[in-house]
Amino acid sequence: MLKIAVQKNGRLNEGSLKLLKDCGIVVENGGDKLKAVASGFSLEVIFLRSSDIPEYVADGVVHLGIVGENALIEENAGVEVVQKLGFSRCRLSVAVPKDVAFEGLNWLDGKRIATSYPRATSAFLQKNNLKANLHLISGSVEIAPALGLADAVCDLVSSGNTLFSNGLKEVQTLLYSEAVLIKNKNLDADALFLADQLLFRITSVLNARKFKYILLNCKEADLPQMKSLIPGMKSPSIIPLATTGWVSLHSVIQEDDFWGVIDQLKQAGAEGILVVPIEKMVF
Ligand code: AMP
Repeated sequence: MLKIAVQKNGRLNEGSLKLLKDCGIVVENGGDKLKAVASGFSLEVIFLRSSDIPEYVADGVVHLGIVGENALIEENAGVEVVQKLGFSRCRLSVAVPKDVAFEGLNWLDGKRIATSYPRATSAFLQKNNLKANLHLISGSVEIAPALGLADAVCDLVSSGNTLFSNGLKEVQTLLYSEAVLIKNKNLDADALFLADQLLFRITSVLNARKFKYILLNCKEADLPQMKSLIPGMKSPSIIPLATTGWVSLHSVIQEDDFWGVIDQLKQAGAEGILVVPIEKMVF
């Protein structure tokens, strides 16, 4: 049976279990459970603290893990990153009190920086030839300047609300992070086989999240332009409508291009545009 570690509590937990669910794998995440056997796949899920997951994977206690890239950088465990997972996106940034006249990184020289990410922060300071005193804090880092403990913070930012409500402004981004699937480097053949099967399901779900299914009606005469706007994977499907001279066009469209293409389709004469989510996309 394949073993995967996911975060016990916190921001990655929900996204990790949702991804598994979308892969047809249901896991009960009740109460103080440390592990659960999933249904829908030969998988045991171990619930751990984020910072412990890289080491459990590196040691082979579990075969796979889902962690934030930021945790990987801090733990520096020897694991293989298999796949970016597209959720829990955030950035590690330096922030200072909003009334500070911050004119460049030199401002940080000799200052006190509160952080839970000493390795990434030290690497950044070293790269920029800056000397600062790091204050290691494990939670609520953003409060440190207001308490007089630090002049700046280096912390994860997602919406920026926490910085804002603590009177801080973001001045420098060190790195971007999202949830990733990690793998032990020495899996045996059985575990590797199951890991590949799981990865196949995950990529099918991730592909589907990137695309939408689009249906529209247009005049037959407008088809060449419509086809060039939504070429789909191979080519769009064209279905005649009961109204002479009109067709229904079915295709897929990338989420990122979505609004730009919709505007162009409307201008090209598309009517009755429907856009629906795709559950799985298998290439
Ligand atoms: P926000 O107010 O949305 O910018 O979130 C900031 C707070 O949430 C900080 O305390 C961060 O340490 C934490 N945080 C934000 N994004 C993540 C993430 N992807 N993983 C873990 N903690 C995060």
